[in-house]
Amino acid sequence: MTLGNENTLKGNDNGIETGFIVIVSGASGAGKGSVIEEMKSMRDDFVLSISTTTREPRGEGAVGEHYAHVSSEDFQELVSEGAFLEWAEVHGNYYGTRKDWVQEKLSNGWIVLLEIDVQGALQVMQRKIDYTSVFVTPTDRKVAHARLRDRGTDSVEDIERRIRNSEWEYGQMNKFEYIVVNESGKLKEAAETLSVILTAESSKMRRTKIRP
Ligand code: 5GP
Repeated sequence: MTLGNENTLKGNDNGIETGFIVIVSGASGAGKGSVIEEMKSMRDDFVLSISTTTREPRGEGAVGEHYAHVSSEDFQELVSEGAFLEWAEVHGNYYGTRKDWVQEKLSNGWIVLLEIDVQGALQVMQRKIDYTSVFVTPTDRKVAHARLRDRGTDSVEDIERRIRNSEWEYGQMNKFEYIVVNESGKLKEAAETLSVILTAESSKMRRTKIRP
């Protein structure tokens, strides 16, 4: 299995000594993937982590496919090796973030975005690592439900399960440091808010490589 990334070959010069993690989480259908996608045209000092999953690929060109697809056996093996920074069963499939990939990016000074579900986000928060956390949400939950139904790539049962699970996810939002509201038709504004958070976090004195 290879975990490639288009940014692997590029260096970065964002003034940060060591990178840090930005957890971007939220309930299903909140549009976290779209917000991150939109932010790509605004800045180039972050990388989006590639998740390992047992979910079937959605097909070529599907939006938001940032995954290494593996079998359940391979996933369990990675779990027992302790390869994951966090992992969770989400809507009947397993998803995890590999430690080695994240570590390599952090040591090269990248801001590493983890687009992960709320269970995984809570696990990262338990670790003694440098992170900040963002909860992405629409103003109206019905918008998120409609997004899931309109995506057209998941089965009806899968969509209904995602909607049921999202109630618990909304209940966890006050454990996050920031909220980004992703209102319908205002994707750019949401991406700008996330970008401002990245700017503020990377401007923290403890993160600079500039010396007194
Ligand atoms: P999807 O199957 O729609 O791409 O993703 C389903 C959910 O799994 C989303 O909420 C997504 O953010 C989450 N997810 C994707 N990758 C990971 C991961 O590596 N770890 C965890 N915990 N959740 C993930």
